[in-house]
Amino acid sequence: MSKPLKNIPSDGYDIVVAGGGLGGLTSANVLAKAGYRVLLVEQHFQLGGLASYFKRGRHIFDVALHGFPIGMKKTLRKYWSREMADHIVQVRSVRFDNPQFSLDTTFTKEDFSDKLEREFELERSAVDAFYAELESMNYYDDRSMTNRELFEKYFPGRNDVVRLLMEPITYANGSTLDEPAITYGIVFSNFMSKGVYTFQGGTDVMIDMMKRELRGNGVDVRVAAKLEKVEVEKGVVAAVVVNGTRVPCRAVMSNGNILSTIRDWVGDEHFSHAFLEKVSATRLNNSSCQVYIGFKEGEGFDFIGDLLFTSTHPVFEPEAVVAPERTSKTFSVYYPSIRPAAPPDYTVVASMNANFADWAEFSDEEYKAAKNDMVDDVLDSLEKYIPGVRDKVDHLEAATPRTFKRYTLHGGGASFGTKFEGLDVSMRLHDEIGGLFHAGSVGIIMSGWLGAANYGVIVANDVDKYLRRGFRD
Ligand SMILES: Cc1cc2nc3c(=O)[nH]c(=O)nc-3n(C[C@H](O)[C@H](O)[C@H](O)COP(=O)(O)OP(=O)(O)OC[C@H]3O[C@@H](n4cnc5c(N)ncnc54)[C@H](O)[C@@H]3O)c2cc1C
Repeated sequence: MSKPLKNIPSDGYDIVVAGGGLGGLTSANVLAKAGYRVLLVEQHFQLGGLASYFKRGRHIFDVALHGFPIGMKKTLRKYWSREMADHIVQVRSVRFDNPQFSLDTTFTKEDFSDKLEREFELERSAVDAFYAELESMNYYDDRSMTNRELFEKYFPGRNDVVRLLMEPITYANGSTLDEPAITYGIVFSNFMSKGVYTFQGGTDVMIDMMKRELRGNGVDVRVAAKLEKVEVEKGVVAAVVVNGTRVPCRAVMSNGNILSTIRDWVGDEHFSHAFLEKVSATRLNNSSCQVYIGFKEGEGFDFIGDLLFTSTHPVFEPEAVVAPERTSKTFSVYYPSIRPAAPPDYTVVASMNANFADWAEFSDEEYKAAKNDMVDDVLDSLEKYIPGVRDKVDHLEAATPRTFKRYTLHGGGASFGTKFEGLDVSMRLHDEIGGLFHAGSVGIIMSGWLGAANYGVIVANDVDKYLRRGFRD
Protein backbone atom coordinates (compact mmCIF):
# COMPACT_ATOMS: atom_id res chain seq x y z
CA MET A 1 0.00 0.00 0.00
CA SER A 2 1.61 3.29 -1.06
CA LYS A 3 1.96 6.06 1.51
CA PRO A 4 0.60 9.59 0.84
CA LEU A 5 3.37 12.17 0.28
CA LYS A 6 4.19 14.26 3.34
CA ASN A 7 5.53 17.83 3.57
CA ILE A 8 4.49 18.97 0.12
CA PRO A 9 4.59 22.81 -0.10
CA SER A 10 1.09 24.25 -0.60
CA ASP A 11 2.17 26.08 -3.77
CA GLY A 12 3.78 22.88 -5.08
CA TYR A 13 6.77 22.81 -7.42
CA ASP A 14 7.86 24.36 -10.69
CA ILE A 15 8.33 20.91 -12.16
CA VAL A 16 7.57 17.34 -11.21
CA VAL A 17 9.86 14.79 -12.82
CA ALA A 18 8.13 11.41 -12.85
CA GLY A 19 10.61 8.54 -13.08
CA GLY A 20 14.15 8.16 -11.80
CA GLY A 21 15.75 6.60 -14.89
CA LEU A 22 18.82 8.30 -16.37
CA GLY A 23 16.64 10.64 -18.46
CA GLY A 24 14.59 11.76 -15.46
CA LEU A 25 17.54 12.04 -13.09
CA THR A 26 19.59 14.13 -15.52
CA SER A 27 16.65 16.37 -16.34
CA ALA A 28 15.92 16.94 -12.63
CA ASN A 29 19.54 17.81 -11.93
CA VAL A 30 19.81 20.31 -14.80
CA LEU A 31 16.54 22.02 -13.80
CA ALA A 32 17.48 22.20 -10.12
CA LYS A 33 20.84 23.73 -11.02
CA ALA A 34 18.94 26.32 -13.09
CA GLY A 35 17.12 27.33 -9.89
CA TYR A 36 13.74 25.61 -10.30
CA ARG A 37 11.90 23.86 -7.47
CA VAL A 38 11.96 20.23 -8.56
CA LEU A 39 10.14 17.20 -7.17
CA LEU A 40 11.40 13.83 -8.45
CA VAL A 41 9.08 10.86 -7.90
CA GLU A 42 10.13 7.28 -8.55
CA GLN A 43 7.67 4.42 -8.12
CA HIS A 44 10.37 1.87 -7.25
CA PHE A 45 12.21 2.02 -3.91
CA GLN A 46 15.48 2.63 -5.75
CA LEU A 47 16.56 5.23 -8.33
CA GLY A 48 18.12 4.33 -11.69
CA GLY A 49 15.26 2.75 -13.68
CA LEU A 50 16.82 0.23 -16.04
CA ALA A 51 20.25 1.50 -14.97
CA SER A 52 19.74 -0.60 -11.91
CA TYR A 53 21.58 -2.99 -9.59
CA PHE A 54 20.73 -5.36 -6.78
CA LYS A 55 22.56 -7.06 -3.94
CA ARG A 56 22.55 -10.78 -3.17
CA GLY A 57 24.81 -11.72 -0.28
CA ARG A 58 28.23 -10.33 -1.11
CA HIS A 59 27.44 -10.00 -4.84
CA ILE A 60 26.22 -6.82 -6.48
CA PHE A 61 24.70 -7.34 -9.93
CA ASP A 62 24.51 -4.64 -12.58
CA VAL A 63 21.40 -4.89 -14.73
CA ALA A 64 22.29 -2.60 -17.62
CA LEU A 65 25.97 -1.76 -17.35
CA HIS A 66 27.52 -3.52 -20.30
CA GLY A 67 29.04 -0.56 -22.02
CA PHE A 68 28.37 2.85 -23.51
CA PRO A 69 30.16 5.32 -25.82
CA ILE A 70 32.85 7.76 -24.63
CA GLY A 71 30.26 10.57 -24.89
CA MET A 72 29.00 9.51 -21.45
CA LYS A 73 32.14 11.04 -19.92
CA LYS A 74 31.32 14.48 -21.28
CA THR A 75 27.66 14.15 -20.29
CA LEU A 76 28.55 13.24 -16.70
CA ARG A 77 31.13 16.03 -16.47
CA LYS A 78 28.82 18.71 -17.88
CA TYR A 79 25.54 17.79 -16.24
CA TRP A 80 26.64 15.90 -13.12
CA SER A 81 30.17 16.20 -11.79
CA ARG A 82 33.81 15.82 -12.74
CA GLU A 83 34.13 13.20 -10.00
CA MET A 84 31.54 11.01 -11.74
CA ALA A 85 33.14 11.57 -15.15
CA ASP A 86 36.45 10.38 -13.72
CA HIS A 87 34.88 6.95 -13.08
CA ILE A 88 34.47 6.29 -16.81
CA VAL A 89 37.00 3.73 -18.02
CA GLN A 90 37.41 1.91 -21.30
CA VAL A 91 36.66 -1.81 -21.43
CA ARG A 92 39.64 -3.84 -22.60
CA SER A 93 38.11 -6.16 -25.12
CA VAL A 94 34.89 -7.06 -26.85
CA ARG A 95 34.68 -10.60 -28.17
CA PHE A 96 32.50 -12.01 -30.96
CA ASP A 97 32.05 -15.76 -31.18
CA ASN A 98 29.61 -17.18 -33.72
CA PRO A 99 29.59 -19.71 -36.60
CA GLN A 100 30.73 -17.00 -39.05
CA PHE A 101 33.74 -15.64 -37.11
CA SER A 102 35.48 -15.39 -33.74
CA LEU A 103 37.50 -12.31 -32.91
CA ASP A 104 38.50 -9.86 -30.18
CA THR A 105 38.28 -6.15 -30.79
CA THR A 106 38.73 -2.88 -28.94
CA PHE A 107 35.55 -1.78 -30.75
CA THR A 108 37.26 1.30 -32.14
CA LYS A 109 36.99 2.56 -35.71
CA GLU A 110 40.67 1.81 -36.36
CA ASP A 111 40.41 -1.77 -35.14
CA PHE A 112 37.12 -2.43 -36.93
CA SER A 113 38.42 -0.96 -40.21
CA ASP A 114 41.55 -3.04 -39.91
CA LYS A 115 39.57 -6.23 -39.27
CA LEU A 116 37.12 -5.53 -42.07
CA GLU A 117 40.05 -5.10 -44.48
CA ARG A 118 42.32 -7.94 -43.34
CA GLU A 119 40.03 -10.59 -41.87
CA PHE A 120 36.88 -9.96 -43.90
CA GLU A 121 38.94 -9.10 -47.01
CA LEU A 122 36.98 -6.00 -47.95
CA GLU A 123 38.30 -3.14 -50.06
CA ARG A 124 39.48 -0.36 -47.75
CA SER A 125 37.71 2.16 -49.98
CA ALA A 126 34.31 0.45 -49.30
CA VAL A 127 34.96 0.47 -45.53
CA ASP A 128 35.98 4.14 -45.56
CA ALA A 129 32.98 5.09 -47.70
CA PHE A 130 30.66 3.24 -45.27
CA TYR A 131 32.07 5.15 -42.29
CA ALA A 132 31.93 8.43 -44.20
CA GLU A 133 28.22 7.89 -44.90
CA LEU A 134 27.55 7.08 -41.23
CA GLU A 135 29.41 10.15 -40.05
CA SER A 136 27.46 12.42 -42.38
CA MET A 137 24.10 11.17 -41.04
CA ASN A 138 21.88 13.64 -39.30
CA TYR A 139 18.59 12.95 -37.57
CA TYR A 140 16.76 15.46 -39.76
CA ASP A 141 17.92 13.78 -43.00
CA ASP A 142 15.80 11.69 -45.31
CA ARG A 143 14.93 8.49 -43.43
CA SER A 144 13.82 6.30 -46.32
CA MET A 145 16.98 4.13 -46.48
CA THR A 146 16.79 1.01 -44.30
CA ASN A 147 19.66 -0.73 -42.52
CA ARG A 148 19.33 -3.59 -45.00
CA GLU A 149 19.77 -1.15 -47.93
CA LEU A 150 22.69 0.59 -46.23
CA PHE A 151 24.62 -2.67 -45.76
CA GLU A 152 23.74 -3.92 -49.24
CA LYS A 153 25.07 -0.67 -50.71
CA TYR A 154 28.56 -1.11 -49.25
CA PHE A 155 28.89 -4.84 -48.52
CA PRO A 156 26.53 -6.67 -50.90
CA GLY A 157 25.76 -10.26 -49.92
CA ARG A 158 28.06 -10.14 -46.85
CA ASN A 159 25.90 -11.32 -43.94
CA ASP A 160 29.05 -11.91 -41.86
CA VAL A 161 30.00 -8.24 -42.19
CA VAL A 162 26.46 -7.19 -41.30
CA ARG A 163 26.73 -9.39 -38.21
CA LEU A 164 29.90 -7.68 -37.03
CA LEU A 165 28.50 -4.21 -37.68
CA MET A 166 24.95 -4.69 -36.50
CA GLU A 167 24.69 -7.49 -33.91
CA PRO A 168 25.88 -5.37 -30.94
CA ILE A 169 23.43 -2.62 -31.84
CA THR A 170 20.56 -5.11 -32.18
CA TYR A 171 21.41 -6.34 -28.69
CA ALA A 172 21.67 -2.81 -27.36
CA ASN A 173 18.39 -1.45 -28.64
CA GLY A 174 16.41 -4.15 -30.43
CA SER A 175 16.88 -2.65 -33.90
CA THR A 176 16.27 -4.69 -37.05
CA LEU A 177 17.36 -4.58 -40.70
CA ASP A 178 14.11 -2.93 -41.75
CA GLU A 179 14.45 0.15 -39.57
CA PRO A 180 15.76 3.49 -40.86
CA ALA A 181 19.51 3.43 -41.39
CA ILE A 182 19.77 6.80 -39.68
CA THR A 183 18.88 5.26 -36.31
CA TYR A 184 21.58 2.62 -36.64
CA GLY A 185 24.11 5.05 -38.09
CA ILE A 186 23.98 7.55 -35.25
CA VAL A 187 24.19 4.94 -32.48
CA PHE A 188 26.98 2.97 -34.18
CA SER A 189 28.99 6.14 -34.91
CA ASN A 190 28.76 7.13 -31.23
CA PHE A 191 30.32 3.81 -30.21
CA MET A 192 32.80 3.78 -33.05
CA SER A 193 34.49 6.99 -32.05
CA LYS A 194 36.66 5.55 -29.31
CA GLY A 195 35.33 2.16 -28.23
CA VAL A 196 33.22 0.95 -25.31
CA TYR A 197 33.32 2.38 -21.78
CA THR A 198 31.99 1.46 -18.37
CA PHE A 199 31.55 3.01 -14.92
CA GLN A 200 34.35 1.98 -12.58
CA GLY A 201 32.80 0.80 -9.31
CA GLY A 202 29.46 -0.20 -10.81
CA THR A 203 25.95 1.18 -11.15
CA ASP A 204 25.40 1.40 -7.37
CA VAL A 205 28.32 3.81 -6.99
CA MET A 206 27.04 5.99 -9.83
CA ILE A 207 23.43 6.09 -8.62
CA ASP A 208 24.56 6.92 -5.05
CA MET A 209 26.64 9.79 -6.41
CA MET A 210 23.67 11.03 -8.45
CA LYS A 211 21.39 10.87 -5.42
CA ARG A 212 23.83 12.99 -3.40
CA GLU A 213 24.22 15.48 -6.22
CA LEU A 214 20.44 15.83 -6.68
CA ARG A 215 19.85 16.40 -2.99
CA GLY A 216 22.78 18.84 -2.86
CA ASN A 217 21.19 20.82 -5.68
CA GLY A 218 17.86 20.96 -3.84
CA VAL A 219 15.81 18.31 -5.68
CA ASP A 220 13.09 16.84 -3.46
CA VAL A 221 13.63 13.12 -4.20
CA ARG A 222 10.86 10.68 -3.26
CA VAL A 223 11.04 6.94 -3.91
CA ALA A 224 8.17 4.44 -3.66
CA ALA A 225 6.18 7.37 -5.06
CA LYS A 226 4.05 6.57 -8.07
CA LEU A 227 2.61 9.21 -10.35
CA GLU A 228 -1.02 8.25 -10.93
CA LYS A 229 -2.50 11.21 -12.79
CA VAL A 230 -1.58 14.45 -14.49
CA GLU A 231 -4.28 17.09 -14.09
CA VAL A 232 -4.75 19.32 -17.11
CA GLU A 233 -6.78 22.53 -16.96
CA LYS A 234 -7.56 24.50 -20.12
CA GLY A 235 -4.86 22.63 -22.03
CA VAL A 236 -2.15 23.31 -19.44
CA VAL A 237 -0.64 21.11 -16.68
CA ALA A 238 -2.01 22.13 -13.27
CA ALA A 239 -1.03 19.33 -10.85
CA VAL A 240 -0.12 15.68 -10.48
CA VAL A 241 -1.44 12.99 -8.17
CA VAL A 242 1.29 10.90 -6.54
CA ASN A 243 0.36 8.08 -4.13
CA GLY A 244 -3.07 9.70 -3.85
CA THR A 245 -1.59 13.12 -2.92
CA ARG A 246 -2.36 16.12 -5.14
CA VAL A 247 0.76 18.14 -5.91
CA PRO A 248 0.36 21.48 -7.74
CA CYS A 249 3.02 22.12 -10.40
CA ARG A 250 3.68 24.25 -13.48
CA ALA A 251 5.15 21.46 -15.55
CA VAL A 252 5.61 17.69 -15.64
CA MET A 253 8.52 15.80 -17.15
CA SER A 254 7.60 12.17 -17.68
CA ASN A 255 10.43 9.66 -17.68
CA GLY A 256 7.95 6.78 -17.82
CA ASN A 257 6.89 5.04 -20.97
CA ILE A 258 5.61 7.57 -23.54
CA LEU A 259 2.48 5.51 -24.26
CA SER A 260 1.43 5.19 -20.60
CA THR A 261 2.19 8.89 -20.11
CA ILE A 262 -0.39 9.78 -22.75
CA ARG A 263 -2.97 7.06 -22.29
CA ASP A 264 -2.89 6.46 -18.51
CA TRP A 265 -1.43 9.51 -16.80
CA VAL A 266 -3.11 12.22 -18.89
CA GLY A 267 -5.96 10.59 -20.88
CA ASP A 268 -6.85 10.64 -24.57
CA GLU A 269 -9.49 13.34 -24.10
CA HIS A 270 -6.79 16.00 -23.73
CA PHE A 271 -5.05 15.30 -27.06
CA SER A 272 -5.88 16.13 -30.66
CA HIS A 273 -7.14 13.43 -32.99
CA ALA A 274 -4.11 13.80 -35.28
CA PHE A 275 -1.73 13.33 -32.36
CA LEU A 276 -3.57 10.27 -31.08
CA GLU A 277 -3.24 8.69 -34.52
CA LYS A 278 0.53 8.98 -34.17
CA VAL A 279 0.34 7.53 -30.69
CA SER A 280 -1.64 4.53 -31.96
CA ALA A 281 1.02 3.90 -34.60
CA THR A 282 3.86 3.90 -32.04
CA ARG A 283 5.29 0.43 -31.41
CA LEU A 284 6.86 -0.61 -28.12
CA ASN A 285 10.33 -2.05 -28.45
CA ASN A 286 11.09 -5.62 -27.42
CA SER A 287 12.33 -6.70 -24.01
CA SER A 288 15.12 -8.67 -22.33
CA CYS A 289 15.93 -11.74 -20.30
CA GLN A 290 18.96 -11.93 -18.04
CA VAL A 291 20.75 -14.51 -15.92
CA TYR A 292 22.87 -13.20 -13.04
CA ILE A 293 25.78 -15.42 -12.04
CA GLY A 294 27.82 -14.92 -8.87
CA PHE A 295 31.07 -16.80 -8.24
CA LYS A 296 32.01 -18.40 -4.93
CA GLU A 297 34.49 -16.60 -2.70
CA GLY A 298 38.01 -17.51 -3.87
CA GLU A 299 36.74 -18.61 -7.32
CA GLY A 300 37.57 -16.60 -10.41
CA PHE A 301 38.77 -16.99 -13.96
CA ASP A 302 41.31 -15.53 -16.36
CA PHE A 303 40.39 -12.66 -18.66
CA ILE A 304 37.84 -13.83 -21.25
CA GLY A 305 36.86 -10.38 -22.57
CA ASP A 306 34.65 -7.75 -20.96
CA LEU A 307 31.75 -8.22 -23.29
CA LEU A 308 31.11 -11.39 -25.30
CA PHE A 309 28.62 -11.41 -28.15
CA THR A 310 28.01 -15.12 -28.68
CA SER A 311 25.68 -16.95 -31.01
CA THR A 312 25.20 -20.44 -32.39
CA HIS A 313 22.83 -19.25 -35.12
CA PRO A 314 24.46 -19.91 -38.52
CA VAL A 315 23.85 -16.41 -39.91
CA PHE A 316 22.87 -13.02 -38.55
CA GLU A 317 19.12 -12.48 -38.35
CA PRO A 318 17.79 -9.91 -35.87
CA GLU A 319 14.67 -12.08 -35.45
CA ALA A 320 16.84 -14.95 -34.17
CA VAL A 321 18.44 -12.66 -31.55
CA VAL A 322 15.04 -12.19 -29.93
CA ALA A 323 13.63 -15.70 -30.49
CA PRO A 324 12.84 -18.04 -27.53
CA GLU A 325 15.44 -20.56 -28.76
CA ARG A 326 18.10 -18.20 -27.32
CA THR A 327 20.79 -18.96 -29.88
CA SER A 328 22.31 -15.55 -29.09
CA LYS A 329 23.63 -14.47 -25.70
CA THR A 330 25.69 -11.52 -24.54
CA PHE A 331 27.90 -12.06 -21.51
CA SER A 332 29.00 -9.03 -19.50
CA VAL A 333 31.89 -9.94 -17.26
CA TYR A 334 32.60 -7.99 -14.08
CA TYR A 335 36.16 -8.51 -12.85
CA PRO A 336 37.37 -7.20 -9.49
CA SER A 337 39.30 -4.52 -11.42
CA ILE A 338 35.99 -2.95 -12.55
CA ARG A 339 34.09 -3.61 -9.32
CA PRO A 340 36.68 -3.58 -6.53
CA ALA A 341 35.57 -5.56 -3.44
CA ALA A 342 37.20 -7.35 -0.54
CA PRO A 343 37.37 -10.29 -0.91
CA PRO A 344 37.44 -10.00 -4.74
CA ASP A 345 34.14 -10.84 -6.42
CA TYR A 346 33.52 -12.10 -9.94
CA THR A 347 30.08 -11.85 -11.54
CA VAL A 348 28.76 -12.49 -15.03
CA VAL A 349 25.47 -11.23 -16.44
CA ALA A 350 24.02 -12.97 -19.49
CA SER A 351 21.55 -10.92 -21.52
CA MET A 352 19.21 -12.12 -24.20
CA ASN A 353 16.71 -10.00 -26.11
CA ALA A 354 13.20 -11.38 -25.76
CA ASN A 355 9.54 -10.81 -26.59
CA PHE A 356 7.09 -10.24 -23.76
CA ALA A 357 4.52 -12.47 -25.50
CA ASP A 358 6.82 -15.48 -25.18
CA TRP A 359 6.69 -15.18 -21.36
CA ALA A 360 3.35 -13.53 -20.67
CA GLU A 361 1.03 -16.54 -20.68
CA PHE A 362 2.97 -18.99 -18.48
CA SER A 363 1.31 -20.26 -15.31
CA ASP A 364 3.38 -19.81 -12.13
CA GLU A 365 4.72 -23.32 -12.44
CA GLU A 366 5.53 -23.02 -16.14
CA TYR A 367 7.18 -19.67 -15.51
CA LYS A 368 9.42 -21.11 -12.82
CA ALA A 369 10.35 -24.05 -15.04
CA ALA A 370 11.08 -21.76 -18.02
CA LYS A 371 13.36 -19.62 -15.85
CA ASN A 372 15.25 -22.71 -14.60
CA ASP A 373 15.59 -23.87 -18.19
CA MET A 374 17.07 -20.53 -19.17
CA VAL A 375 19.60 -20.62 -16.32
CA ASP A 376 20.66 -24.11 -17.39
CA ASP A 377 20.96 -23.10 -21.01
CA VAL A 378 23.07 -20.05 -20.09
CA LEU A 379 25.44 -22.17 -17.97
CA ASP A 380 25.81 -24.63 -20.88
CA SER A 381 26.85 -21.76 -23.13
CA LEU A 382 29.17 -20.20 -20.54
CA GLU A 383 30.99 -23.52 -20.05
CA LYS A 384 32.81 -22.88 -23.34
CA TYR A 385 34.41 -19.72 -21.92
CA ILE A 386 34.67 -20.68 -18.21
CA PRO A 387 35.23 -24.45 -17.99
CA GLY A 388 33.67 -26.04 -14.88
CA VAL A 389 31.50 -22.98 -14.32
CA ARG A 390 28.72 -24.93 -12.57
CA ASP A 391 31.05 -25.86 -9.70
CA LYS A 392 32.36 -22.31 -9.31
CA VAL A 393 29.12 -20.41 -8.76
CA ASP A 394 27.04 -19.76 -5.66
CA HIS A 395 24.31 -17.50 -7.00
CA LEU A 396 22.06 -17.92 -10.05
CA GLU A 397 18.99 -15.84 -10.76
CA ALA A 398 16.88 -15.09 -13.82
CA ALA A 399 14.97 -12.02 -14.98
CA THR A 400 12.45 -12.03 -17.83
CA PRO A 401 10.33 -9.45 -19.67
CA ARG A 402 7.85 -9.87 -16.81
CA THR A 403 10.53 -8.80 -14.32
CA PHE A 404 11.37 -5.71 -16.38
CA LYS A 405 7.70 -4.79 -16.55
CA ARG A 406 7.29 -5.15 -12.78
CA TYR A 407 10.25 -2.94 -11.93
CA THR A 408 9.84 -0.17 -14.53
CA LEU A 409 6.11 -0.32 -15.43
CA HIS A 410 7.06 -0.17 -19.13
CA GLY A 411 4.33 -1.85 -21.21
CA GLY A 412 5.50 -5.29 -22.36
CA GLY A 413 8.60 -4.85 -20.20
CA ALA A 414 9.99 -2.79 -23.12
CA SER A 415 13.68 -2.47 -22.29
CA PHE A 416 14.44 0.09 -24.96
CA GLY A 417 11.31 2.27 -24.94
CA THR A 418 9.61 2.50 -28.30
CA LYS A 419 10.63 2.14 -31.90
CA PHE A 420 11.86 5.25 -33.73
CA GLU A 421 8.37 6.73 -34.35
CA GLY A 422 8.07 7.25 -30.57
CA LEU A 423 10.62 10.07 -30.68
CA ASP A 424 8.35 12.33 -32.67
CA VAL A 425 5.45 11.68 -30.27
CA SER A 426 7.71 12.35 -27.29
CA MET A 427 9.11 15.57 -28.76
CA ARG A 428 5.67 16.96 -29.67
CA LEU A 429 4.01 16.30 -26.34
CA HIS A 430 4.30 19.89 -25.17
CA ASP A 431 2.78 21.18 -28.42
CA GLU A 432 -0.36 19.35 -27.32
CA ILE A 433 -0.44 20.23 -23.62
CA GLY A 434 1.30 23.22 -22.09
CA GLY A 435 3.89 22.14 -19.53
CA LEU A 436 3.84 18.43 -20.41
CA PHE A 437 7.23 17.00 -21.42
CA HIS A 438 8.78 13.59 -21.87
CA ALA A 439 12.35 12.26 -21.88
CA GLY A 440 13.39 8.64 -21.83
CA SER A 441 14.20 5.75 -24.09
CA VAL A 442 12.45 6.41 -27.35
CA GLY A 443 13.37 6.13 -30.96
CA ILE A 444 16.55 4.08 -30.57
CA ILE A 445 18.80 7.17 -30.76
CA MET A 446 17.53 8.44 -27.42
CA SER A 447 18.01 5.11 -25.68
CA GLY A 448 20.89 3.63 -23.72
CA TRP A 449 22.63 5.45 -20.89
CA LEU A 450 24.04 8.19 -23.10
CA GLY A 451 20.95 8.73 -25.25
CA ALA A 452 18.57 8.79 -22.27
CA ALA A 453 20.77 11.18 -20.24
CA ASN A 454 21.32 13.51 -23.21
CA TYR A 455 17.62 13.49 -24.03
CA GLY A 456 17.00 14.48 -20.40
CA VAL A 457 19.20 17.56 -20.97
CA ILE A 458 17.50 18.50 -24.25
CA VAL A 459 14.07 18.31 -22.63
CA ALA A 460 15.24 20.17 -19.51
CA ASN A 461 16.17 23.04 -21.83
CA ASP A 462 12.67 22.96 -23.35
CA VAL A 463 11.15 22.97 -19.85
CA ASP A 464 13.35 25.92 -18.91
CA LYS A 465 12.15 27.88 -21.97
CA TYR A 466 8.53 27.07 -21.14
CA LEU A 467 8.82 28.04 -17.49
CA ARG A 468 10.64 31.27 -18.31
CA ARG A 469 7.89 32.30 -20.70
CA GLY A 470 5.36 31.38 -18.08
CA PHE A 471 2.66 30.51 -20.57
CA ARG A 472 1.88 28.12 -23.34
CA ASP A 473 3.49 28.30 -26.85
C1 LIG B 1 19.16 -5.78 -20.02
C2 LIG B 1 19.52 -4.38 -20.43
C3 LIG B 1 20.82 -4.05 -20.67
C4 LIG B 1 21.18 -2.77 -21.05
N1 LIG B 1 22.48 -2.47 -21.25
C5 LIG B 1 22.85 -1.23 -21.57
C6 LIG B 1 24.22 -0.89 -21.72
O1 LIG B 1 25.09 -1.70 -21.54
N2 LIG B 1 24.53 0.36 -22.09
C7 LIG B 1 23.58 1.32 -22.31
O2 LIG B 1 23.95 2.44 -22.64
N3 LIG B 1 22.28 1.03 -22.13
C8 LIG B 1 21.89 -0.21 -21.77
N4 LIG B 1 20.57 -0.52 -21.61
C9 LIG B 1 19.56 0.52 -21.85
C10 LIG B 1 19.55 1.61 -20.79
O3 LIG B 1 19.72 1.03 -19.52
C11 LIG B 1 18.24 2.36 -20.86
O4 LIG B 1 18.02 2.80 -22.21
C12 LIG B 1 18.23 3.60 -19.98
O5 LIG B 1 18.73 3.30 -18.70
C13 LIG B 1 16.81 4.07 -19.92
O6 LIG B 1 16.71 5.27 -19.21
P1 LIG B 1 15.34 6.06 -19.21
O7 LIG B 1 15.61 7.44 -18.75
O8 LIG B 1 14.63 5.90 -20.50
O9 LIG B 1 14.46 5.47 -18.06
P2 LIG B 1 14.12 4.02 -17.51
O10 LIG B 1 15.35 3.38 -17.09
O11 LIG B 1 13.19 3.33 -18.42
O12 LIG B 1 13.35 4.46 -16.22
C14 LIG B 1 12.05 4.94 -16.17
C15 LIG B 1 11.72 5.12 -14.70
O13 LIG B 1 10.40 5.62 -14.57
C16 LIG B 1 9.83 5.00 -13.44
N5 LIG B 1 8.37 5.08 -13.54
C17 LIG B 1 7.58 4.49 -14.46
N6 LIG B 1 6.30 4.79 -14.21
C18 LIG B 1 6.29 5.60 -13.12
C19 LIG B 1 5.27 6.25 -12.39
N7 LIG B 1 3.98 6.12 -12.72
N8 LIG B 1 5.62 7.01 -11.32
C20 LIG B 1 6.92 7.15 -10.96
N9 LIG B 1 7.93 6.55 -11.62
C21 LIG B 1 7.62 5.79 -12.69
C22 LIG B 1 10.34 3.58 -13.52
O14 LIG B 1 10.21 2.89 -12.31
C23 LIG B 1 11.78 3.81 -13.91
O15 LIG B 1 12.62 3.99 -12.80
C24 LIG B 1 20.18 -1.78 -21.21
C25 LIG B 1 18.85 -2.10 -20.94
C26 LIG B 1 18.52 -3.38 -20.55
C27 LIG B 1 17.12 -3.70 -20.24
